[in-house]
Amino acid sequence: MIVVVGGGITGLSLGREFERQGVEFVVLEASDRAGGVIRSADVDGHTLDWGPQRIRLTGDLESLVKDVGLEDELITAPEGLGISVYRDGKLRAIPYSLAGFATADVLPLRSKLRALLEPFTAGPRPGEKVSEYFTRKFGRGTYETIIGPLYGGLYSTDPADMEVDLSLAHVLRQFKIGRSLLLHLLRRGGRISPPPACTFRDGMQALPEALARRLGQRFRSRSRVRSLEHAGDDWRVILEDETVFDAHDVVLTTPAHVTAGLLRAAAPDAADAASALKYNRLAMVHLEAETDLRGNGFKVSFEDRHLALGGVTFNDSLFSRKNLYTAYLGGGWHPDLADRDDDTLARVAVEDFRLTTGFDARPLSVDRAEIPAWDTSWRALDGFALPDGLHVAANWTERPGIPGRLSQARRVARAVATGPRASTVVSTVG
Ligand SMILES: Cc1cc2nc3c(=O)[nH]c(=O)nc-3n(C[C@H](O)[C@H](O)[C@H](O)COP(=O)(O)OP(=O)(O)OC[C@H]3O[C@@H](n4cnc5c(N)ncnc54)[C@H](O)[C@@H]3O)c2cc1C
Repeated sequence: MIVVVGGGITGLSLGREFERQGVEFVVLEASDRAGGVIRSADVDGHTLDWGPQRIRLTGDLESLVKDVGLEDELITAPEGLGISVYRDGKLRAIPYSLAGFATADVLPLRSKLRALLEPFTAGPRPGEKVSEYFTRKFGRGTYETIIGPLYGGLYSTDPADMEVDLSLAHVLRQFKIGRSLLLHLLRRGGRISPPPACTFRDGMQALPEALARRLGQRFRSRSRVRSLEHAGDDWRVILEDETVFDAHDVVLTTPAHVTAGLLRAAAPDAADAASALKYNRLAMVHLEAETDLRGNGFKVSFEDRHLALGGVTFNDSLFSRKNLYTAYLGGGWHPDLADRDDDTLARVAVEDFRLTTGFDARPLSVDRAEIPAWDTSWRALDGFALPDGLHVAANWTERPGIPGRLSQARRVARAVATGPRASTVVSTVG
């Protein structure tokens, strides 16, 4: 028997993989619903998402959508939608091609010329911060206006607090990028072509819900795990209501601080490491506004970092969600902001939306989320190891985006179901 702790997208995908392998398993979820941070609902006739607003339609995701029968629910963004940045009083489109870069008004000419020197700069240096790396490669203008807000925005973390070795090196390796990012781009035709963004008719939660339906009785909601104990060669998983599962293998997909609590008795060193990881608190304010804004949304340039607003998603233009926008506030730049009351956050979001876009807006909902910072605190995971039969598959051990969650789930499930019994050793470092 394999026990998966947590019924977010990682735990559910693990369950689906174990089902495929034909092994006995159960997915235990503390709350009364599937999905974890993926959460959607209808508010005032709008479909709102409080976690991710979209996923990239990668090959893996397309297969999963078919597998769980959601093809007819899938909504794909129109082709060619770009992302913008707010800089110097204006929204400016970030081109997806080098040719477009030459004529775009997103950067002054001197910054563009400096960025072209990138192939002559060296690859990452040991211990280098992400901000130092990108500034050294492309110059301060390109870093502060484009790369910093886009990269830092993925984690809501200031790249000055992130190390290349901890958060970027594995991505560079995955895409086989050595010394020059620009030459890599040129070899791919001089243009970035990410898979299209997508969602589902009733919001992102449709995906974990369909996965949970597929797992049937093997997905158990309202099943909060309280502790893990060694029992001979196996693990005893004890729920808050005293139900006990005896498991040969246990896969933990829970947030780092929850995982630390569960590991405290069984693996105290690993528990200390997980509890050292920092999460950023982020406020999300959904806004209703009549605008002509087009694109995926925008980020705020570091020159305008005094604004509480970090960025906005244009749900209207992406998925025809009429007049709907999602504003993000707080995160690593304004760490205390998410603790402010709802009325303050709604007012600040409306003010910053008007300042950056020129349009009036009405708040629909205020909510908060915590996301792994992937900053220098990830050094704590150096040497993180678990006893045999315990595993972690989580957005704090590998890439947090949903495509990353699916691929980690597949890999860990295969290793657990078919490999020799071992623990998963986390190696995020280097
Ligand atoms: C605001 C926000 C925006 C994002 N935007 C994007 C995006 O645009 N695109 C993208 O690809 N990704 C995005 N992400 C990242 C992605 O959504 C997450 O990394 C991913 O959904 C995490 O899934 P998970 O299953 O690993 O963890 P979680 O969703 O955190 O699931 C963990 C589960 O464990 C359960 N649990 C906790 N304690 C216990 C316990 N003791 N016993 C049993 N169960 C327990 C929880 O209830 C939860 O359901 C975003 C994330 C956030 C928060």
